[in-house]
Amino acid sequence: MLDLLAAPVTHTTVGAHDDPSLLLGVDEARERILTAFAPLPTVRVPLLDALGMVLAVDAIAGGAVPRFANAAMDGFAVRAADTAGAGPARPATLAVVGEAAAGRAMAAVVGPGQAVRIMTGAPVPTGADAVVRFEETDEATGESGGGRTGRIIRVLRPVVPGQNVRPVGEDFPAGATVLAAGSRVRPAGLGLLATLNRTHATVHRRPTVAVLATGDEVVDPGDDLGPGQIRNSNSALVAGLVRRCGGEPRVLGVARDDADHLREKLREALAADLIVTTGGVSVGDYDLVKRVLRQEGRIELWQVRIKLGKPLAFGWIGETPLLGLPGNPVAAAVAFEQFARPAIGRMLGRRDLSLPSVPARLVGRIENRGGRRHFARVRVEWAGNGYVATPAGAQGAGILSTLARANALLVVPEEMREAVDGDVLVAQMLDWDVA
Ligand code: AMP
Ligand code: MG
Repeated sequence: MLDLLAAPVTHTTVGAHDDPSLLLGVDEARERILTAFAPLPTVRVPLLDALGMVLAVDAIAGGAVPRFANAAMDGFAVRAADTAGAGPARPATLAVVGEAAAGRAMAAVVGPGQAVRIMTGAPVPTGADAVVRFEETDEATGESGGGRTGRIIRVLRPVVPGQNVRPVGEDFPAGATVLAAGSRVRPAGLGLLATLNRTHATVHRRPTVAVLATGDEVVDPGDDLGPGQIRNSNSALVAGLVRRCGGEPRVLGVARDDADHLREKLREALAADLIVTTGGVSVGDYDLVKRVLRQEGRIELWQVRIKLGKPLAFGWIGETPLLGLPGNPVAAAVAFEQFARPAIGRMLGRRDLSLPSVPARLVGRIENRGGRRHFARVRVEWAGNGYVATPAGAQGAGILSTLARANALLVVPEEMREAVDGDVLVAQMLDWDVA
């Protein structure tokens, strides 16, 4: 591994490897690819648009929250000392001198022997240091005549200072870093930013990702299918993956197996932050992506010790990085998750670049004879005491329905020729991390 990392950046591009140990490992390939990416420049976006994006600056509290001490319960604001020793047989009797509602300034002051009727969220009046819940008074029984101003309330249980009161700064004090730069904005973060009086957020902009399918046999939905032709599933699949991990897909259609047409389509893609192609990176007669990449730009790496997705290529067309995914839809998706997702994540400014993973116990059997790291399509479910993974169906590279049924990729290590019932392996969860 150290040798590979220390090797010149241009990895072998000549000849296909049959010996898996000569292939670049998944982790090394990912590291190499990631060196080409950095967080993108920042933009100021309306608050809700920041969801899933990464803050570029710390969000610092201008003031404490809560701003004022307020009631955590509906009841009566009291001086706790007045309720000492109170019980059903010996209630503390207090005079109700006012009412405090949420959203209103509180004028009343609570003196000894007094109480203010108070609603959740209302400022605790001066003099009071605790709130007695209605349920701890005779209010519930109506004996007091409703505990309104001018009446008497009987407290049936003592409170201690601070009880049922949310003090100033309970959530955070003035000057606190409420959300740090580099953190991803989730719904709770949106709420916090709103709390800080923000209408906008400064985040790293989303990368635009050009999505280009290749192949004379590939036809977009809606167009007529000729003999030997198939539907373009990859553009929809890859664009969906791009959007799901926070990128902005720009779907460029299908490049024919013709070097000039491919060059023309790639020119359309140059403005993107990343070009993702599918097909044309294998060793077939018409595998032009690799050839054009070599002629027009440069190939950084080709072929990775991964199943599915071995013929992956990465390089540059001019200044634009290009990730060439294999043509088989599942191979494209698996390779996308391992290599394109982290690249997009890094451009978004994210620190956690991988799919969330859990240990899962295999129920069934998965073969892995090729000596590559195998990402098998499985269904992972919680079994009460841990996660269980069951193969989602046939594992052929073109069998997209199995991927559609799967909710995880189970990682079978390179050296493991077979995973069997009871083996505990890492499962990458496909639905746990959406932008
Ligand atoms: P290639 O790597 O171009 O040789 O493609 C490998 C396999 O994937 C072939 O069976 C192709 O027909 C298939 N394939 C390539 N591109 C697509 C696509 N956009 N949608 C569906 N299948 C594709
Ligand atoms: Mg092809």
